[in-house]
Amino acid sequence: MSNQPHVLRRYTSGYLLYAGKLRRSQWKSADEIAAEQRRQLRELLRAAAQVPYYRSLGIGPDDELAKLPILRKDTVRARFNDFLNPRHPRRGVFEDHTSGSTGAPLRFLLTAEQKAYEMAFAIRFWRWAGYRTGDRIAAFRSYIPATPRDPLWKLDRRQQTLFFSVYDMTPAHLRRYVTEFNRYRPRFVRGYPTSIFAFAQFAAAEGLPVHSPHAVLTSSETLSPEMRAVIEKTLQCPVFDWWGTNERVVTACQCEQRGAYHVNAEGGILELVPVAPGLYRMIGTGLINHAMPLIRYDLGDLALPAAAPCPCGRGLPVIGGILGRSDDLIVTGDGKFIPPVRFYTLFETCDQIRRFQVVQTAPDAVTVRLVPARELTNLTGLRQKLQRFLGENVAIEFAIVDEIQPDPSGKVRTVIAHAPR
Ligand SMILES: [Zn+2]
Repeated sequence: MSNQPHVLRRYTSGYLLYAGKLRRSQWKSADEIAAEQRRQLRELLRAAAQVPYYRSLGIGPDDELAKLPILRKDTVRARFNDFLNPRHPRRGVFEDHTSGSTGAPLRFLLTAEQKAYEMAFAIRFWRWAGYRTGDRIAAFRSYIPATPRDPLWKLDRRQQTLFFSVYDMTPAHLRRYVTEFNRYRPRFVRGYPTSIFAFAQFAAAEGLPVHSPHAVLTSSETLSPEMRAVIEKTLQCPVFDWWGTNERVVTACQCEQRGAYHVNAEGGILELVPVAPGLYRMIGTGLINHAMPLIRYDLGDLALPAAAPCPCGRGLPVIGGILGRSDDLIVTGDGKFIPPVRFYTLFETCDQIRRFQVVQTAPDAVTVRLVPARELTNLTGLRQKLQRFLGENVAIEFAIVDEIQPDPSGKVRTVIAHAPR
């Protein structure tokens, strides 16, 4: 969610309207929610019939979603103009783009309505976590010191948020972060899971007392069970995770049960399409944005279906969990699928390692970069465990490094798979 004041001002009226609507709609039955989605989908397909790309497919309002082709990012990148709806009013439409952390940035159009919905969904999520207007927040994202002389943290009084730079998380700085965090006493913490995890892990390892907030809100990267456990134990509060992509097609997040992820179904349809046994691609259709409709768009992430409905009783559909980016899915020479989350399980339970990055350099070769927490004496055990799930044919090389650099958006890529598939 964007918290920039000018964005807040511009969309506040729409957002308040939608926030009220979403507060009620979450408790509708699954059937009622699905019926409303079908109505929205018909409207979307009617709009899409004006859009060159979809017109060439002969799309009409009565089409069944599952029969339409899956749309890849590359197609949108290459044919941007063919996705624009010429009949959509220009007012309130603006251009945005993906961070381009793993390839060329992708441009897309958003609408004011989409933006307002996005804020309303984010606030609903924050409310599920117990947020009250005016609560103090510590954020581990969005702040980049412009020069080396700029401060490592910055208080934004308007947003009641203390922003910490995630580009400077060295042990010496982290010690000062803990002191500043304790002084500010935030009721909420939000940001990248890897950054909050690094903060919590450092405090725990150093035995530093940390102020306990009401809850932690993570987003924008995959939250592994191990990261969650370390953050919850150190900060003594629950973690709530949000999943979304820059394109804002559809989002999902955890309610107070903190098990499955509820799809924010009033804004989009999420389909899980099988890739391999137990692994699904997330395919989204945005129901709000008619200026540049994205239908059956491959969101680039992997998920698990939910085993059961969420016990909270909300009618919003659920998915079981997020397994990381599909681009980071390692496929070995003999066709073994290893989702990124498997590596977290291995490295994050190893207290000798502070950070890691797995880079697949060839189908049967990986380089594992390790930032040790203390002197690494023996890598044999780790090599054996890695070999077991990568397979005997995969050559493993270790590289001990001082730091793993985040990409320009501030995210740390923990797994980099070989070559596009
Ligand atoms: Zn729930």
